[in-house]
This record gives sequence, C-alpha cells and structure tokens, in this order.
Amino acid sequence: MGLRTKQTSEDGRHSTRAPSPLTQTMRLLRHHNLRVRKRLGQHFLVDGDVLERIITSAELTPTDLVIEIGPGLGVLTKQLAQQAGWVIAMELDNTLAAILKQRMAPYRNVTIINEDVLKIDPAALLETQKAKFPPEINSTGYKVVANLPYYITAPTLRYYLESSAKPEMMVVMVQKEVAEEIMAKPGRLSLLSISIQLYGEPTLITRVPAHSFYPAPKVDSAILKIIVYPQPSVNIADNENFFRVIRAGFSSARKQIGNSLAQGLGLPKVETLSLLAKAGIDAQRRAQTLTLKEWERLGQTFSTYRVEAS
Ligand code: SAM
Repeated sequence: MGLRTKQTSEDGRHSTRAPSPLTQTMRLLRHHNLRVRKRLGQHFLVDGDVLERIITSAELTPTDLVIEIGPGLGVLTKQLAQQAGWVIAMELDNTLAAILKQRMAPYRNVTIINEDVLKIDPAALLETQKAKFPPEINSTGYKVVANLPYYITAPTLRYYLESSAKPEMMVVMVQKEVAEEIMAKPGRLSLLSISIQLYGEPTLITRVPAHSFYPAPKVDSAILKIIVYPQPSVNIADNENFFRVIRAGFSSARKQIGNSLAQGLGLPKVETLSLLAKAGIDAQRRAQTLTLKEWERLGQTFSTYRVEAS
C-alpha cells in the first residue's frame, strides 16, 4: 500500500480520507495556479508506492539529518519530516519554495532553502544550519534523499560525493539509463560510473515507470541507493590529475587507450606507450575495460610523468 498524506486546507475540503499523491499534486497546482516548469526538471512524484520505496530505502531514524534536493510541492519532504530528525530542503524555484515554506510550517524540523543546489557547498550548508539542530541529530553523517531534477543529475551526484562533507548515503531518483550506467561493471565503465563507484557502492533499488510522475517524463526512472565509503575505493593522491587522465582516456572511448591518452593529454605517442607499459596496461585496450584499480595505477604513473616533465 502507498503512503497516505494528510489533507491540508489547500485541498478546500474537510474529509478524513487522505488524497492520493496524484490528487494532492493536481489540487496544489490548481489551487496555486501553477504552471509546471519542465526546464527545471519538474516532474512531480504521484505514485504512493514509489514514494514509500524511497522512504524505506533511506532507512530513516529520528536522529537522521536529511538533505533533500528539489522538494517541489513537498510530497517527499513531508514523509522525510515525519521519519527523520531534521530535513534541509533546497528548491531553486521561488514560487515552489514559498508554497513549500507555508505547507511545511507545521513541521518544526524542516528548513527550506530557496537556492540552486550546485551553488551551496554541503560543508558550508551544514555549518550555517547546525545551530538549529536539536542535540540528538547526528550532524556528522547525513543522508541525501531526492527525486533529482534530471538535467543536473551527474553534476549533483559528483558535487556531493566530492565534497569535503560527504553524505553517508544517497537515495535518489534518476533516469533509468543513468542508473544503469552508474551500476556498470568493468567492460562497460564510463566517466560517470567511475566518478560514482570511486566514492560509494551503488544499488539499483527498482525501476520506476514514467507514469509515476506528473507530468510524465519521456523516459523511465529508477531509484538508486549509494552507500558512501569513508574513503574513496582507490588511492588518489591528486583528484584533479586522476580525472584528467580518465577524461583523456574516455575522450574517444572507441579508440585504443594508447591513442586516446596520447591525444587527450597532448603527449608524444612514444612517451604514452612507455608510461602505459610502466603501469602494466596493454595500450590496445579500450577505456571502458579498465578497472578502478587500473585507473589508479594510470593516474599515479601519468602524474609522475607530469612532475618529471615539468
Ligand atoms: N521532490 C518533488 C517530487 O518528488 O515530486 C519534485 C521533484 S522534480 C523531479 C525536481 C525539483 O527540483 C523541482 O521542484 C525543481 O524546481 C527543482 N530544481 C530544479 N533545479 C534545481 C536546482 N538547481 N537546485 C534546487 N532545486 C532544483
């Protein structure tokens, strides 16, 4: 059975039966005369079972601190407020943020921030908010729970995973294809899957059909859970250099790694081949077949070259 939501005065009626998320969303849109802004990835979740699946996957406790990205009309925010200790919800759309502030006013454990998620550093956010948290809140570890705006999925995941204050868990709705790409094994790895698997272990919780949202997007979605490691899964002394090498490796994924690295890094072919041999990587392999451990070795070998060469 799906989660039930309490009726609000915006519903315009007094009934003991809780409206479904779809009814609630339609009434809110009508009541506030809102036009959906697809440009901001506004596809509201209207399936109670999916909502419940997100909440159970997040394994919330009353001491949990949750950051929600893109709360929209607040269907998820309400459930988070009821089950977690404290919720910080960041919404870019001014109108939605204002409505949400009103709607969430009865909940004393919710802060709505009307900002672009990619402009607020998570460490700075926690620092500025922590005075509000009651003592029982575990503010050193926090969870991100979100039905993400799809146009910024990859940057948002990376922003949080690369932050100096990383979450301990992320439960996020993303496009199905993106979830599958993130879950890929060596042989099908990409820049995106490496950037996520480096920091945490992803699990695909369930696929979610497009009709679970209003308006329905053109593609299906999936709930992805990422358990974030205390330390990255491989040793990277220099994050910038590590990703410089990976980006070069994937710059022409169909090419052999010897060619794509030489071209992408602007190195002479002969030097590139000798560095690959030093790292024990066959120059004829393609980027997507390399494991994270192998990228680690490449990052280290090519950074030595940079130091020696400079
Ligand atoms: N959480 C709601 C739900 O599940 O129904 C809405 C999810 S909707 C897919 C994405 C939400 O993210 C929208 O409310 C949109 O306005 C908001 N959004 C878009 N870009 C954003 C950004 N850069 N920072 C914060 N919120 C953003």
